[in-house]
Amino acid sequence: MAQVILVLNSGSSSIKFTLYSESNVQLSGQISGLGAVPRLSLKSETNETRIDRALSSGEGTHAGALRALLPVLEQELAGRSVDAVGHRVVHGGVEHAAPVLISDDVFDALKTLEPLAPLHQPHNLAGIAASREAFPEAVQTACFDTAFHRNHPWVNDTFALPRPLYDEGVRRYGFHGLSYEYICRYLQQTSPETYSGKVVVAHLGNGASMCAIRNGQSIGSTMGFTALDGLPMGTRCGQLDPGVVLYLLATKGMSADEVSDLLYKNSGLKGLSGISQDMRTLTESSDPKAAEAIDYFVFRIRRELGAMAAVLGGLDTVVFTGGIGENSALIRQKVCDDQDWLGLAIDEAKNRTRTEDISGVESRIKVLVIPTNEEETIRRHTAELLSEVSAN
Ligand code: ADP
Repeated sequence: MAQVILVLNSGSSSIKFTLYSESNVQLSGQISGLGAVPRLSLKSETNETRIDRALSSGEGTHAGALRALLPVLEQELAGRSVDAVGHRVVHGGVEHAAPVLISDDVFDALKTLEPLAPLHQPHNLAGIAASREAFPEAVQTACFDTAFHRNHPWVNDTFALPRPLYDEGVRRYGFHGLSYEYICRYLQQTSPETYSGKVVVAHLGNGASMCAIRNGQSIGSTMGFTALDGLPMGTRCGQLDPGVVLYLLATKGMSADEVSDLLYKNSGLKGLSGISQDMRTLTESSDPKAAEAIDYFVFRIRRELGAMAAVLGGLDTVVFTGGIGENSALIRQKVCDDQDWLGLAIDEAKNRTRTEDISGVESRIKVLVIPTNEEETIRRHTAELLSEVSAN
């Protein structure tokens, strides 16, 4: 019988889900508005909306949301049951360089990492707890955004802080690993030569980071100890002189919670523009502050691109992915403008129509736009772990 795998991505206000029969998407959707006005929307495998309805307020918790989803899945599965649930978990800490089966011990260990990813980890774990209750017979797996980077070189793993801090886990973890892994596997399958070369992937969404990759291995990434570092994001500040944090605490007398809110929720594109965290809104705005926020976003990407080319000792391919990377021709254009020195140029028409390969004819470096699919990475790992469990 075909394996049934449910992939869950549990956030603070939504649970996104994809149901697979073997490797085929059977349906996908989300329960949004958790904690406020919950709503279930469901799409078929051909992306047609099948359900879009309000849920009761009692269904507005992670547990309530999965209870609401159960009968929908049961109807869809017509007698079959969910064999495994694969969860996206943002932080796997030092321990996890690969996905794992979730036991009580694993769950408790992941809970200790909550302070390292306060925007995501608590909600990822709430989703796991709810799923273990809703699908007690199913194998549950955790797939980590940090795992892809665990074998990166030591120089990218450390800060220049006293050694005991490194030993207790104050390290650069890097995130968006499930996305980078998807892109690497896609390249491996479609263009082995590109896969084994020097690649920079720019995952540009609400959260944004870049990763230097050689032969499918993470060499360096822009995110660090938490998902705050590196590129500016929708609401997160990205790279920041730690002296600014000291100033906020000591001189302005802000509390740690206030600083955390400022850096995670009110900075980045939103803080700079004072208008919105949403790139589409900013690109459509005529306010100069929107343009400045975009300029800063692009500046940081270009700076990291040059740094990564230096770290890799050359560059063969740049991949754009994530909501902005996949959809914004303007941002891709601005990032690639005047990069002839690097041997990088894009074809404007291809960029506008968004073919997969948008490289200019004279470009030595290949420039690709590849839609990411983190769910597929989670499905694949979960299927592998399920096969191991079934074999034992
Ligand atoms: P998340 O990190 O939450 O998964 P996404 O990858 O969905 O985020 O990316 C969301 C971002 O993509 C938003 O800033 C949104 O405005 C932007 N985006 C989506 N489509 C476009 C577009 N056509 N032009 C510019 N930005 C876009």
